[in-house]
Parts: sequence; structure tokens; C-alpha cells
Amino acid sequence: MSTTTTSSTTNLPHNVKPDHLSKTNIPTSELSQKTILDLLNTKCTTSLHLLKQAHAVVLKSGHFQDHYVAGTLLKSYANSPSSNLNFVSKVFYYVPRPNVFVWNVMLKSCLDHNETWKACNIAGVDKEGLQIHTHVVKLGLHGDIHIKSSAIQMYASFGLLMDARQFLDDGQECDVICWNAMIDGYLKWGDIEAAKELFNSMVEKNIGSYNAMISGLAKCGRFDDARKLFDEMSDKNEITWSSIIDGYIKGGYYKEALEVFNQMQNQEIRPRKFVLSSVLCACANFGALDQGRWIHAYLKRNSINLDAVLGTALIDMYVKCGCLDMAWEVFENMKKKEVFSWNAMIGGLAMHGRAGDAIELFFKMLRERMTPDKITFVSILSACAHAGMVDRGLEVLDNMKITFGIEPEVEHYGCVVDLLGRAGLLTEAEELISTMPMEPNAAVWGALLGACKKHGNIELSERVGKILLEMEPENSGRYALLSNIYAKEGRWDDVAEVRKLMKERGIKTNPGISTIDLNGIVHEFKMGDGSHPQVKEIYLMLEKIIDKLKMEGYSPIASQVLFDIEEEDKETALKYHSEKLAIAFGLINTNPGTTIRIVKNLRVCEDCHSATKLISKVFERDIIVRDRVRYHHFRNGKCSCNDFW
Ligand code: ZN
Ligand code: ZN
Repeated sequence: MSTTTTSSTTNLPHNVKPDHLSKTNIPTSELSQKTILDLLNTKCTTSLHLLKQAHAVVLKSGHFQDHYVAGTLLKSYANSPSSNLNFVSKVFYYVPRPNVFVWNVMLKSCLDHNETWKACNIAGVDKEGLQIHTHVVKLGLHGDIHIKSSAIQMYASFGLLMDARQFLDDGQECDVICWNAMIDGYLKWGDIEAAKELFNSMVEKNIGSYNAMISGLAKCGRFDDARKLFDEMSDKNEITWSSIIDGYIKGGYYKEALEVFNQMQNQEIRPRKFVLSSVLCACANFGALDQGRWIHAYLKRNSINLDAVLGTALIDMYVKCGCLDMAWEVFENMKKKEVFSWNAMIGGLAMHGRAGDAIELFFKMLRERMTPDKITFVSILSACAHAGMVDRGLEVLDNMKITFGIEPEVEHYGCVVDLLGRAGLLTEAEELISTMPMEPNAAVWGALLGACKKHGNIELSERVGKILLEMEPENSGRYALLSNIYAKEGRWDDVAEVRKLMKERGIKTNPGISTIDLNGIVHEFKMGDGSHPQVKEIYLMLEKIIDKLKMEGYSPIASQVLFDIEEEDKETALKYHSEKLAIAFGLINTNPGTTIRIVKNLRVCEDCHSATKLISKVFERDIIVRDRVRYHHFRNGKCSCNDFW
């Protein structure tokens, strides 16, 4: 999901004129400092619009001269959900002779936004982080404990860990926040041992110390250590839970993340919005539709306002779990849509092969005066590709720059190569690759290769297959692709050559794994898997399926047997591909007519694809398979990808 923030700065009160402030700061208003602070602290936390109104009030009332008010205003900008560091710095610029509090708010918001360079610039120093120290000392802030922790944070984020550490060891007063900042710094740079040592030597630890360790360890990939500490803690707060859940999600451990989230629910800890959207992301990636639905219901039950971020996370979850209708419903009901919300919906439609709807929505977006960004154009171009709209696609590519000022990037060219290739315009596609202004990446070549395979251009396939292998010698899929090209031609010597190369280079293949969500539990299948409790039933069902399909004229695709894209393929194993097991499981355990939803980590092979098409017809089921590349909606013997994936 994209989480770009809005960046319009045009209606910022300070932007009007530099001398605007001096004209309006005559204290004519009756408003007290307290009223102003209340206004900033309560009303403005949710909306940038309200915050800007409050900002105007601050200026008019003359309270902007008050450092405490100015600092609080800065803080509100920094904490605003659609926060943008530009706002914060612009406001900061107008604060007359900022004091410690104002400085601290500014430095902290820079650090929170990972804008270390800016933080240094604001402090009036160059990138030599050391100089900020001098600055801080000059301002006489050295003894200030708050700025001390900010300084530790800043030094640490530059990787100047020794300098950061000097603040701790300088013999002056230090609080637990300074220690925590140091731990955080060590972990940010992967110095786990130093972090552990410091943590263990701390006389006084607070929840923050534990939280810093847990989130840092998880970020370093030390999930076991993080989890051990998490389990040890008797007193966890909401941040503790979020840290471990977020760590798991960022590391791709979706199953573990969802398990901890369930525990969190059992303990009746109310998750913050941020956790909910990150758990939705786990659901999306794991295909855990029931869990995702539960969160949706939870939001409704607790009347939690669907802001753009949370709403978009919901859309993304529904899209990725194959429920376009639900995604649409959420989208329609969202009060505030940002460009990334539109992108999620347009991209969802495009990915599911509903090109016409995607393009229609794009025009609606323009009518509603929403400015598309580069991600929007990736979706639109891929929609055009799937719908075979060659002229429109080329037109969009041209217009991106002329009308919207967005320079096409390699992804956009990749979509157009795909578009031309799908339409059989292989020469044009190749020409575009050789004339595009940047080096083509693997995705661009991959798009061309897909087209060559579809249109039976063996000579070009082989050439592109070799280029891809050169580009990504570590990617096992590239060997499989090239080998498959040879296998189809019956060039067994070349097949053997590719295999030998793979062996020499020690390239290992990933096992194919398919998952299916049944009543909130995600079941996982590997090829030839015998570990599932229903294994007997599943294999019986599979036999039954194959028999029925054979009556419909199905025969296993022989060329897949030799060396499949997934490398799952061995002659006897073709019918036990993970997605076939998952489909059989789905047919056994769901009511007739229920849609079966499967997530697969690799590409679906040709044999599974044609078998699934027939299953959708014979068993009258919609089957939605999300593979590594795209979505396949199987219905009544056909697939939404038009056999092109
Ligand atoms: Zn297969
Ligand atoms: Zn398909």
C-alpha cells in the first residue's frame, strides 16, 4: 500500500507573505493562552484543515510570540495524520528566537520523520553531525535532559554511536529516555550486543526500554530474542504489542503477527489505528480474509472513524483477498479519500482483470479533481495492457508527462512493453525497450518474455531468457524459465545445460506453498504434503477431481512435468501441486457455491491453471488464486487472466 501524504502547502497561513506575521500579531484578541493551547491539543489532532484554522487564530491573537504556544503548534503539525515536515519547518522558520522547547519539538519531529539531514540544517550545521553539539552547547542547552535525548537520537541516526554514547557517559544528569534512545540507536545500526549490554546494565528500566529492545531486535531480524523479551514482560502496554506485531509484519512473519494480534484481543487491549492498519496488511499478504473481516467489523462496532490510511488498508486487504465487491463498498463509503486510496482501488480493479472499470474510475478521479501520481499511472497502464487497449495505453504514456508533469519511470515502460507484447506487437515492444531513456530492468524483460511465450517467438524467448538469467543469476525462477523454453522445443541437451549451471552455482529453488483461509484459520499446503490432519480425505478428493476432469477432456500438460517454473514438478507429483491440494481441501470443507480463495507464493503452473479452469466449471465454483505475479479469477471454465500470466 502506498502511504504518500498530501503535500499542498499553498494554504498555510504563514505562506501568505513573510511580513504577514508582523501585521497580525497585535494582541487584539481576548483569547487566553490556555484557550489556545486547548484548541491545539484537542480539536486539531485529527484534521489538517482544523489545525490550519487554529494556526490562523494563533497568529491573529498574537500568541505566536509565546514559545509554548508556538512549540505546541509545531507539535500539532508534526503529529497530524497528514503531517508533512514542510509545514513544520515553515512554521518553525517564523518562530522568533526559538527557545529550548521549540528547538526540541523541531528536532524531534525531524527525527520522527527520519529527516536527519534536515534536522541538522535546521540546527544551522552541515552534515557533520558533531557540529550540532557545538550549536547545542552555544545555546546553553547541554544540560537540558530533553534535548539530550534528542541529540543522542540524532547522533545515533547518523551512525555516530560513540558520540551519542558520550552524552550518556559525560557524568551529567541522564534519564531513562536518554538510555532508551541509545539502545534504539545501537539497534538501528545492528549493534545488538552493545544494545543488550546497555539494556542489561540499566538500573532503572521502564516499558520504553523494553519496547525499544523489542522493536529494535525485530527490525534486526532477531525475532526469537524479541519474542523472548516480549514473553518475559509482565507489564505490556499498547506499544509493546504494536512493536512485536509490526516487527513480525515487516519481517514477513504474517502468521505470527496474526497470532499475537489474537492474543492482544484476548487480553482486551484496544489496538490503535496504526496497529489495525498494519494487521490488515498482514491479512492482505496472508490472504487471511476472515481475520480481515473481523477487523472491519471491529471498526464498525467501535465506531472507529475510517481515515484515508485505515480505509485504504481495508481496500487493499479486500483486493488482495479477492473480494473486489467489498473493497468497492469500503471505497464508496470512505468520506476522505487520498490519492493512495484511489490508487488502491484502481490498481485492484486492474489486477483483477477489470480493466474497463479501472479506467472508468481513473476518469472519475480526474473529474473529482484528484491529482494522479506515478502509482496511478502504473495501474492505468497495466489495465490498458490487460484490456488490449494499445492506443489508449500509448496515449497515457505520452500524456503522463505533458498533462500531469510526471516523468515515466521504468515501471511505466514495463507496463507498455507488456501492453505491446500482449497485443502481439513484439517488434514494437523490443524497439521501446531499446529506446527507453533508462536501463530496462528484469520486470521489463520479463514482460517481453511473457509475450514471446504467448506468441510463440522462440528465437526472441531464448535471447530474453538468457538476458534475464544474466541479470538475476541468484533467482531460481530465471533458470526454470529458460529451461522451460527449451523443454517446450524438446531441446533436452540445453535443458540439461541449464540444470547443470544451476547446480554449479548452488541455486536452490523455493518450495511452492499455497494457503487457504477457512473460518479464520489459515491452512498451509506444500507439494505432496502429508502433514495436514485431513490428508486422507484431501488425496481422495483429488483423485475424484482428476477423474472428473479427465471426463471433460483434461490431460496433464507433459512439458510441465519435466522442469516446471516452480520446480515442484515431478511426473508423479504434478497432481499434488500445493494449489491443487488447497483447492481439494476447499471443496471438502466449504458449502457448494462458496468461492474458494487461495494464495500461492510462486507462479501458478500451466497444468494447475488449466485444471483449475475445469474445476471451476465441473464443480460450479468461483476460484480465486493469487499467485506471485497476479490474480486469477476462475469461473465457469475461464480465467480472468485470459491465460496470460
Ligand atoms: Zn502446478
Ligand atoms: Zn489465470
